[in-house]
Amino acid sequence: MRLHDDEDLPDIEFPLGDGTAETGATVYCPYCNETVEIAIDPGGGSAQEYVEDCEVCCQPWTVSVHYREDGSAQVSVAPLDE
Ligand SMILES: [Zn+2]
Repeated sequence: MRLHDDEDLPDIEFPLGDGTAETGATVYCPYCNETVEIAIDPGGGSAQEYVEDCEVCCQPWTVSVHYREDGSAQVSVAPLDE
């Protein structure tokens, strides 16, 4: 699925759906400092931000996901209320 000609997407080559994009990440919870594995979805686009609860302490995070052109993902989480 290559959608880089779509007007709503940035003009980069992004390997969506060809098996090279990462689908998981390890993050540190800003509340409890536990290491948590989260699932990420390359089908959501090269830049995503959404709310997800920590599975350890159930506090809400703002999750930011940025896929690079090679399919690797940069993931960060922040407390929801900051
Ligand atoms: Zn937590």
